[in-house]
Amino acid sequence: MEKTKLVAFTFDDGPLPYADDSTAMRILKTYEKYGQTATFFYWGERINDASAPEMKFAQSIGCEAGNHTFTHCPLTEKTVEEMKDELKKTSDAVENVLGVAPKLMRLPYLASNETVTATVDYPMINCSADSRDWDNATTEEIIQRIMDVEAAGELENAIILMHEPYATTAAAVEYLIPTLMEKGYRFVSVSELAKQNGVELQKHTIYGKL
Ligand SMILES: [Zn+2]
Repeated sequence: MEKTKLVAFTFDDGPLPYADDSTAMRILKTYEKYGQTATFFYWGERINDASAPEMKFAQSIGCEAGNHTFTHCPLTEKTVEEMKDELKKTSDAVENVLGVAPKLMRLPYLASNETVTATVDYPMINCSADSRDWDNATTEEIIQRIMDVEAAGELENAIILMHEPYATTAAAVEYLIPTLMEKGYRFVSVSELAKQNGVELQKHTIYGKL
């Protein structure tokens, strides 16, 4: 029996209008099927009555909700007041649906500078590996990138950047979860990964690998 290795997959840019076969629901049903969890960083202006059921389903299976700003513009182009507004509006929208406010955030385009880190009063979760699913990757390419990270011995405790609106991502997740579980991996939220590693996530701090 191999030792359990933890990894946190993260999915940005949802929620999507609910449909049984949406890319988001394909991803979530895969997590449900295998009893695993992940973190979803929500784009505030995409939260509405049509997309709320996806968020509630994610919460019901133990997934974590994060803040990905309201309009998804690089915060480096915003004033301090605009940044605070982006975060607050998204936090309120998430809390309105789920009853709890997000504790983590992901910067749009991972764009930061000193003003951004001084202003954002959340732990900012970057990634230790990028699936590059946003860059027209095929399902096979996404799978290969993750398996290359695994082969390099860098998947344990990794934070993986993915996006929920792509069918290629959904198909890759359907393959990767059972395949990596066979290799001893378990999939957890970013907060759980931090906890298991004894890391107390701090506000105004950017995290890649834990
Ligand atoms: Zn994004």
